Amino acid sequence: QAKAKGRNCYAVFNPAMQINTPERLQLENDLRWALERDEFCLYYQPIINLTTGYLQGFEALVRWQHPQKGMISPTQFIPIAEETGLIHQLGWWVLRSACSQLQKWQRFLQKNSEYPPFLGLNVNLSPIQLEQADLIEQIYNLLMLVELDYSGLKLEITESCLLKTAEAQANRLKQLKTLGIGLCIDDFGTGYSSLSRLHEFPIDTVKIDRSFVQGMGPNSSQTEIVKTIVTLAHSLGMNLVAEGIETPKQLEYIKALGCEFAQGYFFSKPVDVETATRLVRGYHRYS
Ligand code: C2E
Ligand code: MG
Ligand code: MG
Ligand code: MG
Repeated sequence: QAKAKGRNCYAVFNPAMQINTPERLQLENDLRWALERDEFCLYYQPIINLTTGYLQGFEALVRWQHPQKGMISPTQFIPIAEETGLIHQLGWWVLRSACSQLQKWQRFLQKNSEYPPFLGLNVNLSPIQLEQADLIEQIYNLLMLVELDYSGLKLEITESCLLKTAEAQANRLKQLKTLGIGLCIDDFGTGYSSLSRLHEFPIDTVKIDRSFVQGMGPNSSQTEIVKTIVTLAHSLGMNLVAEGIETPKQLEYIKALGCEFAQGYFFSKPVDVETATRLVRGYHRYS
């Protein structure tokens, strides 16, 4: 049983899960009930400020604790949620939960003057959510409701999503920016976009996909690609997060290239809310 293997182990399904296999239909059906049954939770993966070595913030990552199958990876159920439209409710739940958690952390930081007031929280947004006409209005209402200082809030949108963005969605991104919410381009490098299109969107952070970070080496072309991404992003006034740092060597490379932030198992896997809270309260320093 996957559950017995611990919280970072997922149940494994056939990766090529066909649309109509009984297994897939079962999962789809279970997913419809999972919200009501309160089976989702958020894990938080630390993002490290490489200049100071301190915790900068977290990326919120959704987890599904299936009663029989154990922990199921978002890479398994997010696509199903997107195809069935359930992503609207799920995405909304994620955003609400993440914002209310950020508010709790902020309250703590505000009361304790020895801590820096800043804490970032990144939340993933599905391309399907971006198609929602009243998305901005809903987000605005939510932010008013939780009384959050949302200067630390950033929404992550994948590069491939950005490429397919029509004018209406692009305008929504601009409105988010106007509200003061940050925008991250996620998994950068995997979408085969022309780098020159970056400036068309109000992005302030680029997250370099882990496949590039992990492919870096003394004479590898990946290193050159990452170098080019960093140079371009900086020339457009954007910051960079290197994803998937697993080794000291990778950290060395991306530091030398000038990335401001990093995320990866080398620092920490995604952790539960109690552990994340301890990191915030301890003003954790990584290096
Ligand atoms: P992502 O947004 O690119 O998130 C990073 C993924 O990389 C996470 O997987 C994280 O656990 C994993 N990761 C981080 N550091 C390392 C590392 O050093 N090595 C390796 N091998 N992996 C690392 P996770 O949590 O399984 O999430 C997978 C994807 O599911 C996310 O990729 C994101 O696209 C999607 N996702 C997760 N939560 C949400 C959500 O709330 N909403 C939406 N729309 N998508 C979500
Ligand atoms: Mg992400
Ligand atoms: Mg990512
Ligand atoms: Mg990714």
